[in-house]
Amino acid sequence: VFAQSPKEIEKVINQAHKEFKGEKGGKNADYIPYLKNVNSDLYGIAIVTADGKVYEVGDTKFEFGIESISKAFVLAMAMQQKGSDKIEDSIGVDATGMPFNSVTAIELEGQKPSNPFVNAGAMATNSIIDAKSKEDKWKFIMDNFNKFAGRDLKVIDELFKSEMATNQHNQAIALLLESYGRMYDNPMTTVELYTKQCSIGVNAKDLAIMAATFANNGVNPITKEKVLEPKYVPKVLSVMSTAGLYETTGEWLFSVGLPGKSGVGGGIIAVVPGVMGIAVFSPPLDEAGNSVRAQKAIEMISDNLGLNVFSAK
Ligand code: GLU
Repeated sequence: VFAQSPKEIEKVINQAHKEFKGEKGGKNADYIPYLKNVNSDLYGIAIVTADGKVYEVGDTKFEFGIESISKAFVLAMAMQQKGSDKIEDSIGVDATGMPFNSVTAIELEGQKPSNPFVNAGAMATNSIIDAKSKEDKWKFIMDNFNKFAGRDLKVIDELFKSEMATNQHNQAIALLLESYGRMYDNPMTTVELYTKQCSIGVNAKDLAIMAATFANNGVNPITKEKVLEPKYVPKVLSVMSTAGLYETTGEWLFSVGLPGKSGVGGGIIAVVPGVMGIAVFSPPLDEAGNSVRAQKAIEMISDNLGLNVFSAK
């Protein structure tokens, strides 16, 4: 049973903020020009509990690109529409141990995109969502993001343009998937919508609410709106556990013991089922593309509050 008081939660997030504020490791993503120019000192931590209490410290109002964290939510939307078997059969749910933009990962899995969190699988997941038109599909995706966050989010236009101008690698992956019959919509439309989902602006508090919606069985703990069927929550969290932090997911799970998802914008979310969502934002990334401060902060929070899902409560 989770028995930490609000005082203890406050104490630990303040401690994690103070402890790693001076951390100098990592550097901003530089393959997307917009991301390179975000202030590297920014650092914010937010926790939202399953019963809707909000805790924040640092730069929790700053809006940044959600990037790969969007993959967890688009996976949830696709499952809600198509069922989890369809995702398992058409996309796959196995860890690749490969970088996020790996082409090899597709080949290894017998031409399957391998899982919804490598770029190949994330684009396939976006493509599998049914809609009458590109506009309708985007509206469906955006509406669902808004429900997870409990407010109207917006695409950061400058980021979207910056990514569209530099996403040739993702275009190549989309075409490769099409050649294997593993792309379920027009590949170029899919690259565009995938790039757009990555360019949605969020702050750390938004992400903590979104993570807390998973922690609260698919119900947004602030708005009380049901966003996801409870039966799909463990499915999304299982993919987060095995593939949420690219090729270093094993090390993350080993040290933190929580399902997580990172993005190259500098955000990481972690979910404590039934208890809370945690989100940390800080742009400098390690070699794999995971925020250095965010990993350290969440590890400290998990340790100090006894959140590891593998330890008996
Ligand atoms: N839009 C980025 C890409 O596809 C997202 C990468 C990430 O956050 O891992 O390259």
